[in-house]
Amino acid sequence: MDLGQVSEYCYNLTNSYLEIKNQTQVIADTQDAIRLTKRYFLQDIFPRWSPLSCEISFSYNGGKDCQVLLLLYLGCIWEFFLNSVQDSQYDRQYHQYPLRSLPTVFIDQEETFATMEDFVASTSERYCLSLYESVRDEGKKLSMPEAFDQYLKLHSDTKAIVIGIRYTDPYAADLKTIQPTDDDWPDFLRLQPLLHWKLSNIWSFLLFSNEPICGIYGMGFTSIGSIKNTLPNPHLNVDRKDKPSLLFQWEIAHAFGKTDDQDPEVNVSQVNHKDLALLNNSNEKYLPGWYLTDDSLERAGRVKRC
Ligand code: ATP
Repeated sequence: MDLGQVSEYCYNLTNSYLEIKNQTQVIADTQDAIRLTKRYFLQDIFPRWSPLSCEISFSYNGGKDCQVLLLLYLGCIWEFFLNSVQDSQYDRQYHQYPLRSLPTVFIDQEETFATMEDFVASTSERYCLSLYESVRDEGKKLSMPEAFDQYLKLHSDTKAIVIGIRYTDPYAADLKTIQPTDDDWPDFLRLQPLLHWKLSNIWSFLLFSNEPICGIYGMGFTSIGSIKNTLPNPHLNVDRKDKPSLLFQWEIAHAFGKTDDQDPEVNVSQVNHKDLALLNNSNEKYLPGWYLTDDSLERAGRVKRC
């Protein structure tokens, strides 16, 4: 699929989720969350910075939040494109989709899980991303602001960057949908249209999407930092008496475009052997990340490895 086709696919995926009727409260809440995110993109953001130019970039690290936002973003770009050609005297078929690839930035840090890197590479092809990867400098650890600074030097047309942060993330409670970067960061506008999303909304939409999900989540991780500070979430340990049960049977069974002969399991990417070696060190077993829906426990796996 080229970028136009992927965008149209994401538009149809989003509409299909919005059309679900009489299911769970989580689905109804997620539909509201999607409507608000769409409104931010189509009414507040795109009229100021066109997604069909190089003014907007997308920050992507293969995590669940930015993947959800990427699917919505692509669908909204398609809708924006449809709206922009609507008044033309020529039929839609005579208008070419103006973008071939989506400007995207990935800060590849020293201790990123290999599975995550593989996932970023495979989804970069799948979603036609023009992916800038920050240079890994083993001698000197590049901070996030430094890495973004390098990106902006190479992509000087960039005015705003889409970020998949949510209110429940650390230090995010007071963030705004559109805001400038802090003083100690390079200058750009942060576009944050996912702030209001809860963990349950993320899993509901992502599992319904039938898109591949980074394999690390299948191993009991719920939020992914670096190898050194992220473990499977202890609340998903299968030996716990109070372990959560699955809330998303409907989404998995009725996933978008699922065919009868498709594996009934969730579509997760393959775990890299380097990470398997790391994770198989212990005999503990964990439920997949999407069993956890309590936002306050999402980062319970972020601890220091001894
Ligand atoms: P998870 O919480 O499961 O790891 P996530 O990575 O999408 O999912 P966060 O870690 O909370 O979410 O990060 C918030 C957002 O910041 C991401 O959605 C992404 O837009 C941006 N971001 C974080 N780390 C990077 C990175 N290394 N490179 C580019 N963007 C990043």
